[in-house]
Amino acid sequence: MISALAALERLKEGNRRFVSDAGERGPGDIRAKLNALTAGQEPFAIILGCSDSRVPAEIVFDQGLGDLFVIRVAGNIVAPSQVGSVEFAAERFGTRLVVVLGHSECGAVLATLEELESPSAIRGPNLRSIVDRIRPSVEPLLETDLRHDQKALTRNAVRANIRAAASHLRHGSQLLEKLVQNDGLVVVGAEYSLETGVVDFFDGLPATG
Ligand SMILES: [Zn+2]
Repeated sequence: MISALAALERLKEGNRRFVSDAGERGPGDIRAKLNALTAGQEPFAIILGCSDSRVPAEIVFDQGLGDLFVIRVAGNIVAPSQVGSVEFAAERFGTRLVVVLGHSECGAVLATLEELESPSAIRGPNLRSIVDRIRPSVEPLLETDLRHDQKALTRNAVRANIRAAASHLRHGSQLLEKLVQNDGLVVVGAEYSLETGVVDFFDGLPATG
């Protein structure tokens, strides 16, 4: 792993490239976009995703500046600050689609399974607070035959955690619940495959046709 200072330098260089693309001599589209977005934003979707470096929402959905309102937290868990962030965007910008974006082999879900199998593997109250949010949706799976199949268990645990987060957003906030009932807000759950890059929208899709 590179040092902190080398990491900082890499970020600075990256931002210099970004600014020069947006500058007088760079391609006009980024500059025009920055100018347009100075006045405000209208993100068309809210994404609650995992912090995992392999699942950057803007890249996997091929979107750019101003398109997505993104909240990222390990395990795409729903705690009050995540609910508040979704409420903020749904109310302030009128964004009507919320996607809970989990992913295969999620480290936070794996850590939760480890903790359930051998308690106190998790050190410290802050990390524990994440595991504690994942635990209720994952724990029942250990009482099924899935416990004999680590791969299937992980796969099901990832999806159970995504379903729980989406359900929490639909029902854990009066404001969001009202928007869902009366104002066209839709909360869906999706899983990104680290292997294929495909996002499978598997939970909460509105009926079509
Ligand atoms: Zn993850």
